[in-house]
Amino acid sequence: MLPLVALVGRPNVGKSTLFNALTRSRDALVHDQPGVTRDRNYGVCRPEGKPAFALVDTGGIAGEDEGLAGATARQARAAAEEADLVLFVVDGREGASALDDDILKWLRKSARPTTLVINKTDGLDVQAAINDFARYGFSDVVAVSSAHRQGIDTLIDHSLAKLPETGAATELDADPSRIRVAFIGRPNVGKSTLVNRLLGEERMIASDVPGTTRDAVSIDMERDGRLYRLIDTAGLRRKSRVEEVVEKFSIVKTLRAIEECQVAVIMLDAGEGVTDQDASVLGYALDAGRALVVAINKWDGLTDYQRQQAEALLARKLGFVDWAEAVRISAKHGSGLRELFKAIHRAHASATHEFSTSEVNKALEIAYETNPPPTVRGHVAKLRYAHPAQSNPPTFIVHGTRLRTLGDTYKRYLENFFRKRFKLVGTPVRFVFKEGT
Ligand code: GDP
Ligand code: GDP
Repeated sequence: MLPLVALVGRPNVGKSTLFNALTRSRDALVHDQPGVTRDRNYGVCRPEGKPAFALVDTGGIAGEDEGLAGATARQARAAAEEADLVLFVVDGREGASALDDDILKWLRKSARPTTLVINKTDGLDVQAAINDFARYGFSDVVAVSSAHRQGIDTLIDHSLAKLPETGAATELDADPSRIRVAFIGRPNVGKSTLVNRLLGEERMIASDVPGTTRDAVSIDMERDGRLYRLIDTAGLRRKSRVEEVVEKFSIVKTLRAIEECQVAVIMLDAGEGVTDQDASVLGYALDAGRALVVAINKWDGLTDYQRQQAEALLARKLGFVDWAEAVRISAKHGSGLRELFKAIHRAHASATHEFSTSEVNKALEIAYETNPPPTVRGHVAKLRYAHPAQSNPPTFIVHGTRLRTLGDTYKRYLENFFRKRFKLVGTPVRFVFKEGT
């Protein structure tokens, strides 16, 4: 299960700069999608070839200038208490301050594993900066410059070493006959209604899959002779009334569900279009490279005119994920669910398809010959050959020369060409460009 790391520190020490350095997506094409709203406080760090972890910046949650008073303190405390590791960020230039001392006091009380991160050490005598905080008595200290991306890889490695093992996902992977589905979305879009209907309607063999860690609960389900595992989301558990009131929309849970699923079904409320919160949940699914189905719920509650309005709005707002199928459903009445599950299957099949090297090579050859890359300042990229790298999402490695000159337009062309040729729906497609012959 995706572990959680919390950034804690007084204002201006560089938490949000560090947050960006850790969470910035490697895939700029994905990251800069217009239409995706980025949550400034929650993200996922995905170091290449290493396990991912969720990150929360506790500083920005309730407004920066309130310092640690009132609501900010409570929110930060709650996030820090839930975290597997706290990164206590301090400013190496200014040295220890009274506010740092205060934070340290409640960090000690919360007793989470904590690492002292001394930021802004660019151009500083690092040892002197470390000595300045020696009286805090940390055995784990990492010096970084977030603004210059110095020490970030060290910090990532350090954090990974401190985090619990994340073997759960591989265990889940072991059952290829089961499609792992997560219903995600902001509160009130109808997730619980849908899940409860699915479980009730199908008289399914509902069994709680005991969480490997903490409170993760997934449910196995059979529908029309096919097997699914519904990955833990807010809607899955039968909550007591008290819990229901207390439990707020948990972004961390959403991040974890996205991480563990193969197909993410993002639910929207037809009457409300695509809100910023919807767009940010969608952004998390895209970053994770998950197969995606858009379920537009509460379709029953709309008049014909409202439906037309909704169609137009959704087409405009979801243009950037036009590869994902959108299905109109009513969780309340159970309509559209057959189509929904067909879309889930198509997305899963596309996402997990195994490609042969020869078909991928052939596709590249035709794409390249039909439409060679344009000349950029006297240079033109040459695409030589390609091969499949992994599935879920399908990833293709393209070898060639002068690949730096390939623009986003051409990369999108390649993506669309591959999508069409291999009839890929409902899954992101990734390309990795490797310079050399
Ligand atoms: P936050 O309030 O803790 O989230 O702090 P910010 O990330 O907003 O950073 C506060 C200020 O410190 C900004 O002006 C940043 O540009 C600056 N800053 C952040 N990291 C570094 C760093 O590594 N070196 C230097 N010199 N400045 C930094
Ligand atoms: P969740 O927070 O995403 O789990 O949302 P819920 O399942 O709790 O649903 C929120 C509200 O929307 C409840 O009052 C539901 O009865 C209502 N709702 C859910 N699905 C539908 C639907 O398909 N049509 C209509 N009209 N209302 C729905």
